[in-house]
Amino acid sequence: MQKVHELKCWPSQFEATLDGRKKHEFRKNDRDFKVGDVLSLREYDPAKSYPYTHGHTGRVLRGRVTWVTESFGVPPGFCAMSLSDVSAVMWDCPQCGCTEVETDEDGATVCVDAGHTLILAPDEPEDT
Ligand SMILES: [Zn+2]
Repeated sequence: MQKVHELKCWPSQFEATLDGRKKHEFRKNDRDFKVGDVLSLREYDPAKSYPYTHGHTGRVLRGRVTWVTESFGVPPGFCAMSLSDVSAVMWDCPQCGCTEVETDEDGATVCVDAGHTLILAPDEPEDT
């Protein structure tokens, strides 16, 4: 059965997946990843300590797992996955789960349901 796996994704990895350079995910396989499953990658910035979002920016990418490699050089307990059909950025308000956003009069990105301010990823390059 197809499962949707919710995963944290660091900003540098998120950007590379978003623009198509990165098509793989290397993960600890503690979730029984299978071909056909969907990875829901939630952008997470560990350098931020927003108290109400716990580092989540609100951006989410989705991709389908087309291959899972275990062993063949992959350490036990880990897996390398190939992703395809990576969707455009979706939003998921970390505070209320609202998936629609708009820009308010101050130029901030806010969720439509409750007007929570969503944090955009920084423009400057990541250190990692
Ligand atoms: Zn919200």
